Amino acid sequence: MGMQLFTNAHIATGEPGSTAAQTAPVQDILVQDGRFVEFGEHLGERLAAQGCDKHALDVVDLGGKLVCPPFCDTHLHLDYVFTARKPGAVNESGTLFEGIQRWSETKSDLTVDEVKHRAKIGIAKEMRHGVQFIRTHADVTDPNLTSLKALLELKEELADTVTLQIVSFPQEGMYSYEGPHGETGADLVEEGLKMGADCVGGIPHFEQCREFGERSMHTVVELASRYGKLIDVHCDETDDPNSRYVELLAALAYKAGIGERTTASHTCSLGSTDNAYFFHLTKLLKAAKLNFACAPTENLYLQGRQDTFPKRRGITRVKELTEAGVNVSLGQDSMQDPWYPLGNGNMMLILDYVLHLAQMMSFEEIDDALKFLTINGATSLGMRNEYGLEPGKPANFIVLDADSVFNAVYERADVLRSVRAGHTLFTRTTTIDTELNLLR
Ligand SMILES: [Zn+2]
Repeated sequence: MGMQLFTNAHIATGEPGSTAAQTAPVQDILVQDGRFVEFGEHLGERLAAQGCDKHALDVVDLGGKLVCPPFCDTHLHLDYVFTARKPGAVNESGTLFEGIQRWSETKSDLTVDEVKHRAKIGIAKEMRHGVQFIRTHADVTDPNLTSLKALLELKEELADTVTLQIVSFPQEGMYSYEGPHGETGADLVEEGLKMGADCVGGIPHFEQCREFGERSMHTVVELASRYGKLIDVHCDETDDPNSRYVELLAALAYKAGIGERTTASHTCSLGSTDNAYFFHLTKLLKAAKLNFACAPTENLYLQGRQDTFPKRRGITRVKELTEAGVNVSLGQDSMQDPWYPLGNGNMMLILDYVLHLAQMMSFEEIDDALKFLTINGATSLGMRNEYGLEPGKPANFIVLDADSVFNAVYERADVLRSVRAGHTLFTRTTTIDTELNLLR
């Protein structure tokens, strides 16, 4: 591949203060052999003045639109997508626990090809909304490990277009699940890691008793240390303020020196605990450098189901964690599965929900909001070295139909173009066929 020049872009890196204000001058982006070379004003003219052959340069005019790093969806279940309407899968109560029950009762007919087919549709939906990095869980409480086999194959097959990170996830518990040959969920998680999963998963609040939940947190950290893997635990996904596994996970990961490689997903119970507890916990979370993943639409729907009124919002303390300097990223979590009937991979919608639910609506917070979908996600995934709008890094970026971060959030802007290693994955035009004439 030769050199490419993407011209006329407002640029938001996702870093604090990178708002791409409308008044800022537009910049050009020079790409060579799939990597960023330079960002700056009037790069095309400078190259011409230096004698660069115009015909050797592929020029793409971005029309003054907003460029940012690709979106990261750090919490998704690609093996579950589009199973909501299967016979026996319908979740009548709308609770997390009925969702797990419905999945458990209807998952025996999975095949590798069938999981791959559904997962590919889910990935395509995410990608058309600008996602290029996905952390997906794969349910390994299945002696055949069908989901994991399918997602490992997809990870390889689609590596040029999307980065998949796979969690070896015991949906039915590490110590509450018992397989047909006496396997525990923990045994199967370990098997998944040997097969090539990137992360160790867990679900302590679902285990039959506190002791099993605590034991599972010890196992998660031990396995991650032994196999050199990342951690992503479904942690405290309940309104029960006494579900406090996140503190054990954080403390164990901190002691093992792998807090930065650890993500606590959901942590809904932090929305129910009191401030004195959270104040004490925050010190540990900061020291451990733990990451958090929030799935606002999913938990808004699933939580508060035992409440009458007042009814809890179900999401973790995104604003307070962020203000404390703790890294928070966002996830779609579900697409039409037994836990959630909607979900189309539109991360701008997920962001919109979290800004409202967490009451993060100062102009500064809105200007800074794209970090949740970009660099915060890459931090959780442990991919910052190869992610971001910087010379030398892979030329991965998206173009939003807006001219500033504020306007992108305000309009929940569409993604007009997604570029990966210099290749354009897709383009979209948004056009209005007839004018309203109201503003003349
Ligand atoms: Zn999940």
